[in-house]
Amino acid sequence: MLTKSGLTDYLINLNNLAVPDFTTWEFTPGMLFNQPQKWWTGNENRPAPHEGVDFHLYKNVSGQIRHLPTSTKIPALFAGSVVQICDDFLGKSIFVCGNHTDARGSRLHTIYAHITPYDHIEIGAQIKETDIIAVIADSANKHPKIPPHLHISTLLLPKSTPRNRLNWKTLTGSDLYHFCDPMEFINA
Ligand SMILES: [Zn+2]
Repeated sequence: MLTKSGLTDYLINLNNLAVPDFTTWEFTPGMLFNQPQKWWTGNENRPAPHEGVDFHLYKNVSGQIRHLPTSTKIPALFAGSVVQICDDFLGKSIFVCGNHTDARGSRLHTIYAHITPYDHIEIGAQIKETDIIAVIADSANKHPKIPPHLHISTLLLPKSTPRNRLNWKTLTGSDLYHFCDPMEFINA
């Protein structure tokens, strides 16, 4: 059994969000797994249900809603090896093959999207849980109407999955790949 990642705590500590004030994440419709909406427009749907969770908003002790700024440092949820880095529509995505194996021998992969990877994060790099791997990308040049945010996906894949299958074009809307809800793996 996989122990849930302390991603929220890591992220709060790394980015000093606890000073003064992180209390909880806030999710508007479309930010959570499998939800249909484009949360940044309020009235349109995505081309396919959301393949992960978008971390963007949190509530402070006074009940005010704040947002993660561009350059927020991103810690790894789990240890593993970097198996792909590719472009996405707001920045880059890092694919990490974790050490956790399910009953059928598939590995839990984590995808961090809309980010700018640190220079030493290359394909083949080994990372530990809590390592800082990236910052949230500034999306202003690509899609100024979409606020910068961290997207996380989790999916089970055979360890031998070819690298050229690991990109958004192949993964989105495909029945071959089974994304799971990242919140199952995160202490939030
Ligand atoms: Zn997303």
